[in-house]
Amino acid sequence: MGTSIYTYDIVIIGAGPAGYELAGLLAEGGRRVCLIEKAEQQVGGTCLTEGCVPAKHFLEGAGYLTKASYFERCGIETKLKYFDIERLKASAQDLIEEMRGGILSRLKRQKVKIRYGSASFVNSQTIALAESGERIAAAAFVIATGSRHRDHPTIPLVKGKILSSREVFTLTHLPASILVIGAGAIGCEFASFFHGMGAKVTLAEYAKMILPSEEADLSRTLKRELERKGITIHVDAEVTGHTVTDQGVDIQMCVGKKVQEGSYEMVLIAVGREPDTDALALERAGVACERGYVAVNDAYQSTTAAHIYAIGDVIATPALAHVAYYEAKRLSRILLGEPALPPEPIFPSVTFTAPQVASIGASETRLKEAGRVVKSTKCFFKSNAKAKIKGDDSGFVKVVYDAESRVILGASMVGNEVTELIHIFLMAITKEVRLGELDAMVFAHPTLSELIGECR
Ligand code: FAD
Repeated sequence: MGTSIYTYDIVIIGAGPAGYELAGLLAEGGRRVCLIEKAEQQVGGTCLTEGCVPAKHFLEGAGYLTKASYFERCGIETKLKYFDIERLKASAQDLIEEMRGGILSRLKRQKVKIRYGSASFVNSQTIALAESGERIAAAAFVIATGSRHRDHPTIPLVKGKILSSREVFTLTHLPASILVIGAGAIGCEFASFFHGMGAKVTLAEYAKMILPSEEADLSRTLKRELERKGITIHVDAEVTGHTVTDQGVDIQMCVGKKVQEGSYEMVLIAVGREPDTDALALERAGVACERGYVAVNDAYQSTTAAHIYAIGDVIATPALAHVAYYEAKRLSRILLGEPALPPEPIFPSVTFTAPQVASIGASETRLKEAGRVVKSTKCFFKSNAKAKIKGDDSGFVKVVYDAESRVILGASMVGNEVTELIHIFLMAITKEVRLGELDAMVFAHPTLSELIGECR
């Protein structure tokens, strides 16, 4: 990527975590970078505008309500008068704008040129912006257009009644009852949110367990805890019919072999995300897709157009913001000729339910399937003073390690604040720490982290 006849060395389409991070790094490395985003309010991408940030802000709010009864146990009289959804939305919006302001001023400092408009390829060397008709040519392109809500095969969205996660952030009132279809991370988190806010929540999952990409014991514990709190959960459940009524939505569902019927004020569709490439006219640039994802080699290079790259949710790697940031960092090193980063990093997977779920590294099941001789050890928060002080002693920490060397290979957790605690294992696995070495370290008392020191 040397100096060229083009105004820009590289054009990046999409200013989500993948796009804005890469743009900044390449500009700092001396490249002339143009970053394209649909509109200024979209800078930050799904993560900032309708994903990680507002979702976790909403969950934090619900968490305080859930804790109200615990306050009373501690002698604090709380009289909750009412819940004002407009204030929750406004504070989420303030947060989004503050963070977007930070991203924009960083990009300005880094001298990234930003153009607003919907981009599509005119040919392999040029894109056009739909609104202005402006054409921008460059030596290289990066597709970082992310993902969008995946429609349910038979249940279309209906304003105010059948929602995607995006509409949750614009609700004008909370439903008295809601069915969440899909128990992946997004579905489970919203089930926790609506339950925390006082709605009657039913969670339905097609697979045989909730959080199907996690280990079975983790999923089982989360299911038990959510049910204990009052969320109704159906696994092996397929929605077979629905009728929109004045009051909400009537649903027919097969749970195992049993037919169930229910009425809900709202339904949330959370059956996954899909890559967002439709508007790009990729065929004009000769960029191939596989199952909708841009097909790339392990240097994120299109398998059919070598000067076009793709990172983030638009390729078939885990659809997570921290994976998108990593791919941006790794691609910047490739393009700037800097020391390489590994193609498959060790990264945590986190779900912000109540209790939370987190895992990292290889799972015990996958290691055993691969013929590796491993062992595991499990410690429960029931014996942890801090978990009790915090009012939730559910869950466990499980560590998987090589049977002979005792090097830690993976960890999984359910419980209070485990989305923070998991990073101890990020260090341990990266640095190939042996199980006994944890035992020899002194963890402060009383802390949740202490339980990690007890895994031996
Ligand atoms: P995106 O963030 O989707 O950004 C892509 C950008 O490209 C968008 O701004 C879009 O407007 C723009 N774009 C698209 N097409 C064009 C075009 N033709 N022209 C110009 N611009 C275009 N991840 C986590 O790690 N942790 C979480 O807790 C978490 N929670 C989530 C909660 C929800 C409800 C959702 C929906 C997602 C969550 N995610 C979470 C996933 C995370 O948001 C994504 O993995 C991340 O945003 C992907 O970053 P990206 O840059 O690849 O794409």
